[in-house]
Amino acid sequence: MKLTIVAATGGIGRQALEQAVAAGHDVTAVVRDPSKLSRGARAVAVDLAVADPAALEHELGDALAWLVSVANVTGVDLERAAARYADGCPRCHHTPCTCPPA
Ligand SMILES: [Zn+2]
Repeated sequence: MKLTIVAATGGIGRQALEQAVAAGHDVTAVVRDPSKLSRGARAVAVDLAVADPAALEHELGDALAWLVSVANVTGVDLERAAARYADGCPRCHHTPCTCPPA
């Protein structure tokens, strides 16, 4: 499966990236600094603080379309799945996550 993981060097992103690569998925990691990636994934360097808003909207739209498609095909209720993040990151409880990189 082709996956795009935004902020793939952050706390949750790093874990998602490691699991996706280990499972054999074709992963594109959207990160500020590709040198921080520890696993074999294609990287797209994007500084989200200065990103082109239209380009970022386009890329995130693609990622969202993939996510919704996978949820529909597998019968996953995305609203219920996202509920565990209602209080922010499960570890630091901030939104966005402020956990230090592992
Ligand atoms: Zn966190």
